[in-house]
Amino acid sequence: MGGQNPDYLGAAISAERAWTVAQLWTMQAMVEARCDACRVRLRVDLDGLIRARGPDYSLWNKTPRCRVVGCAGRVGFWARDRPGGPETPLRGERRMAPAPLPRWLGQG
Ligand SMILES: [Zn+2]
Repeated sequence: MGGQNPDYLGAAISAERAWTVAQLWTMQAMVEARCDACRVRLRVDLDGLIRARGPDYSLWNKTPRCRVVGCAGRVGFWARDRPGGPETPLRGERRMAPAPLPRWLGQG
């Protein structure tokens, strides 16, 4: 098992490493929105999402309404870090504690 970058072993997509759209973008992750009701699969445009929502936006645990006409389902998000790589549902807790707010943002 030598020779491989240990940082790359296992699922590279995790809540700790790929929580924000900017992190997913940096990993060049391929993100899909999928609807369980109508089975539609849509590529998520990370560039557009970063422009629209900002780099700290997260798709984790988001289940927006499906946009297919006539479908009442909700979509979930899935990501893979490379073509043919394992898919990871963007669901679960982020175990890492969020960074504390900078002091200048504090109340005062
Ligand atoms: Zn649907």
